[in-house]
Amino acid sequence: MDSPSLMLSLVLCGLLLAGLGTRLWLASRQIRHVWRHRDQVPAAFEATVGAQAHRKAASYTVAKARFGMLEAAIDAALLLGWTLLGGLDALNQLLLSWMGPGLWQQLALIGSFALIGGVLALPLSWWSTFRIEESFGFNKMNLGLWLSDLFKGTLVGALVGLPIVALVIWLMGSAGTLWWLWAWGVWMGFNLLLLIVYPTVIAPLFNRFEPLADEALRERVQALMQRCGFSAKGLFVMDGSRRSAHANAYFTGFGAAKRVVFFDTLLKQLSPGEIDAVLAHELGHFKRRHIVQRVVMMFALSLLGFALLGWLSGQVWFYTGLGVTPSLDSANDALALILFMMVVPLVTYFLSPLMAQLSRRHEFEADAYASEHADRRDLASALLKLYQDNASTLTPDPLYARFYYSHPPASERLARLLPTAAGAST
Ligand SMILES: [Zn+2]
Repeated sequence: MDSPSLMLSLVLCGLLLAGLGTRLWLASRQIRHVWRHRDQVPAAFEATVGAQAHRKAASYTVAKARFGMLEAAIDAALLLGWTLLGGLDALNQLLLSWMGPGLWQQLALIGSFALIGGVLALPLSWWSTFRIEESFGFNKMNLGLWLSDLFKGTLVGALVGLPIVALVIWLMGSAGTLWWLWAWGVWMGFNLLLLIVYPTVIAPLFNRFEPLADEALRERVQALMQRCGFSAKGLFVMDGSRRSAHANAYFTGFGAAKRVVFFDTLLKQLSPGEIDAVLAHELGHFKRRHIVQRVVMMFALSLLGFALLGWLSGQVWFYTGLGVTPSLDSANDALALILFMMVVPLVTYFLSPLMAQLSRRHEFEADAYASEHADRRDLASALLKLYQDNASTLTPDPLYARFYYSHPPASERLARLLPTAAGAST
């Protein structure tokens, strides 16, 4: 082994250990913190949250954090297996000996890599749904629906993913040294298209989306949307109860495909005023241009990513250092793509606190928008119901929350909405 590839192997091991160590450390902090506070509802919530609900949230949070630890360990082992232990190299050699080099072999490599990864992830996904979610009363899926989701998801993934991957690999082989710039352009176009196609075509394959049926509620909601300058066509109710008792609302898309989606489970639990407030929060995400900000950031980060890939894919040590022997007389583009996709998350994991912080800032901004256009007390009570119904803990470990939470902990959000009631100092 030459020294750059030895160095890369060492960096890989270092990043793997550091990432796994951080994950396990944060999860164990979260478990200890939540467990220590499980018998005492925080003072600010004593009037609104029962002891039993508080304990359920603690048990659920701990169960998920434990599962996350197991997942992190398995992921690290798999990554090591694919790279330094020779898994990807063996798969590549096998396909080369069957098919010979060329675009089809490269596509087969990416396809079979994704398929094997998907199969290996199945037991964990099954366990999460049918053991953890099930035991807390959240799972509404039977095995049939789970399998049909799996089948549809794989099919859509192949239909959408393989053509774009084929195009990128073709560009890598034929567009010269600046291929990565072309590939970036294609990738951006693809993502923008997906932002339109996902809510209108793909998501409806898995769920039913219907306009709000309740007449009185619809009038109320339309009035709010008009006040906020939002097309009334953009509100949908989704049958989330088919799969899970978790309640949610989200915003997605842009332009004509822009929409706010309410889970039916959410509508069942909230009063009309609370629904207004949650909708105002989601509209706030549009009005404060959070989608545009995310898209612009994705543009910039992926340009950086493609430029890096453009450079790395030409370095022999990039392959050998990650446990793969590149072929000298044919293209290694699929190998480069796979290795890059595997290794980049090891680095970006350490950026998750930044991303989480940005996301939490957006949540605060949307909350502020909602308190201007709806009743802030309604938003506060809706949020509390949602935190409770989803068994989200009210007492997360502060460091864990800062690292991962895309939404601020309940205490912080409510303290901003109702500064007097919820004890802003806690
Ligand atoms: Zn939000």
